Amino acid sequence: NRRSVIAGNWKMFKTVNEAEDYAVKFLEEVKDVTDLDIVLCAPFTALNPLKNELEESVVHLGAQNMSWADQGAYTGEISAQMLLDVACTYVILGHSERREMFGEKDEEINKKVQKALATGLTPILCVGENLNVREEGKAAERVSSQVVQALSSISKEDLSRIVIAYEPIWAIGTGKTASSKDAQDMCATIRATLNGLMGLGAEQVPILYGGSVKAENIAELLTEPDIDGALVGGASLDPISFAKLVHNAA
Ligand code: 13P
Repeated sequence: NRRSVIAGNWKMFKTVNEAEDYAVKFLEEVKDVTDLDIVLCAPFTALNPLKNELEESVVHLGAQNMSWADQGAYTGEISAQMLLDVACTYVILGHSERREMFGEKDEEINKKVQKALATGLTPILCVGENLNVREEGKAAERVSSQVVQALSSISKEDLSRIVIAYEPIWAIGTGKTASSKDAQDMCATIRATLNGLMGLGAEQVPILYGGSVKAENIAELLTEPDIDGALVGGASLDPISFAKLVHNAA
């Protein structure tokens, strides 16, 4: 039985004070939730303060990006060791906003996934098609190709430690959720692709859906057999509403 994961992606929101205030309120609401993994993926500047707030709590800490390099002359980058140093256990990699606005390519994302796994971080690998690709009927092909490229040259044991998030770009921040059936179909396609890479080990890999997930629609999405959780943007920004979403998922 694979574990369920509910991860909040704050994107470029929250100062240190706002993050600390959030953590206090959120923890109070979710402190008794033990049947799923809760993750907060915060901006780099809020990670160290959150480390102190979340210590020994049920909430795991994650980053939203990292470098494939260990250290060195890489101005503006953050390494895996730096994330481990502030108690991160998860890192989002290949988010569509990084791919679309900051030019991240599959090959680079593959190097980042390898680095995360080698250092003991759990990557949340994001994949998803845009509206054009969906309308051309090529969504499954595109998403499978993203999975295969991002996971190239990774051992079966390492593959069993990843989390994948399917986030159709047309559903992000638009209020337009994929239907549970469309989301399920793609998550099943991803699991089949993973099984092809791993030789059947994909049953234990959590596959999340992301794109306009809210407290009101999470329970229905989770009734689908291949959807194991959610990566939540906008609806993770308020601690009380995100806690409600977590409870509706538990
Ligand atoms: P929204 O939940 O705001 O649609 O964002 C989804 C997302 O991109 C999470 O990574």
